[in-house]
Amino acid sequence: MRIGIAKVMQETSTFSTQATDLAMFADHGIARGPATLAGESVWDGFVEGFREAAAGHELVGVIKLQAMPAGCLTAAARQTIVEWFAADLAQALPLDALLLSLHGAFVAEDDPDVDGLLLQTARQLLGPRVPIGVALDLHANITERMVAAVDVIDGMHTHPHLDMPQTGRRVARVTLAAADGQVRPVVSAVKIPLVTPAETQISDEPPLAELMAATRQAERQPAILCASVFAVQPWLDVPEMGWCSVVVADGDRGLATAAARELAGLAWEQRRDYTRPCPNYRDAIATALSGDAWPVVIADLTDLMTGGGTGDSTWYLRELLLRQPEQLCCLPMVDPQAVAVLTAAGAGARVTVSLGGKLDYVNSTPVEVTGDVLRVIPVTPGRDLPESMGTTVVLGLGQVQVVVFERLGPGADPVIYQGAGIDVTQARILVAKSVVDFRAGYADVAKRFLLGEAPGLAPADLLSLPWKRVPRPLFPLDTTFAWSADKAVAWSSDPRPAGGDGT
Ligand SMILES: [Zn+2]
Repeated sequence: MRIGIAKVMQETSTFSTQATDLAMFADHGIARGPATLAGESVWDGFVEGFREAAAGHELVGVIKLQAMPAGCLTAAARQTIVEWFAADLAQALPLDALLLSLHGAFVAEDDPDVDGLLLQTARQLLGPRVPIGVALDLHANITERMVAAVDVIDGMHTHPHLDMPQTGRRVARVTLAAADGQVRPVVSAVKIPLVTPAETQISDEPPLAELMAATRQAERQPAILCASVFAVQPWLDVPEMGWCSVVVADGDRGLATAAARELAGLAWEQRRDYTRPCPNYRDAIATALSGDAWPVVIADLTDLMTGGGTGDSTWYLRELLLRQPEQLCCLPMVDPQAVAVLTAAGAGARVTVSLGGKLDYVNSTPVEVTGDVLRVIPVTPGRDLPESMGTTVVLGLGQVQVVVFERLGPGADPVIYQGAGIDVTQARILVAKSVVDFRAGYADVAKRFLLGEAPGLAPADLLSLPWKRVPRPLFPLDTTFAWSADKAVAWSSDPRPAGGDGT
């Protein structure tokens, strides 16, 4: 069989100050047509799973593009991306199945559901018989258009996100079985009027652990092909906002709907358990400076680089400079202007520079500092830092070291420090720009994990956001309404043509 593979991935925060444009995709490399599958490269965990499950079939690269999380996609970029996707998919025909790696929370200025638009475009081009399977992030926002267009939807069951390959394998196995006529997947989705803070969604701790165990239990039923609960990322002001349970069953819509309702009901019962007080950043820094065990990794969660933060919040920098720590304390800072100043000065120079507070100008202001340029790390092949971060500079401010770079980087991974030549084992505090994934990224480094909330674009307190477009009532913006999973509307995929052999 000829199996198409495509990836178009961005996670949008509609509250971000930074619009997403094509240049932000170009930073990560855009590949189109057969070139996307050249060599042995693996695009991401989903595609790794696709390739494993589809081994022995002819794989056809369609398109691959990805950008870091930021604000809404510009209308012009949205038009270009959909045109590219349609043209490259048309070029790849005929296909027996299409596998897509999407995030599921991709919003444009002129369309609140870019993922749904891509899936609808794919369905129009492929017709009703060619199965479409999509692997999504746990933080996807499922829409009616997405469900109507596909045969298989499945999402990650873990946060930190560790099961991308397994998710990709499940999606590919079911989609290929459908293409082969062995199963007739039908999707049923129940939208839950719920958003929750991200920092309490940890899949091996309650309450999410219990919910994910229930999805795995549902998947053990022979006629259920896959089951997911999507705990949408909370910084998304769109008309179909909310959690969603999705079940794919073999030919039995009633079974899929019943199982999706059961999972939705459990999520709704847990709704109050996700809201807990979040520690303040000043308290977190004080705790980290006074303890006996370090490194302490503190999540600057409201400025998370993997979810709509700009990476240039200055609250941690101000507090650390004020406290003048006696041991090494490290934090990242996205600031292309500062990188230009520091690079021009060169390693060894003593420089006064304005740091941060320029991209998220709503919550932070720049800090003028005087320090020593310890290292300048240009973009060269073989360096450990991702190329997409651009030139990176380590600025020493006494025991505070700031890793300054041009564009967003991995907020949950110590490579951001190690790649800049910092011995993380010597640090008292390492600031991560992450909400949950840092617990996995820093597992081998951290003696302790803390959360510290500062003013930022991705607040834990969802009531503080200027919501305008979300459906109401929506918990926890509204708290006194009744909702029942048993009576909720279920969205379903279009039935596959009978007797389908996928051709
Ligand atoms: Zn996620």
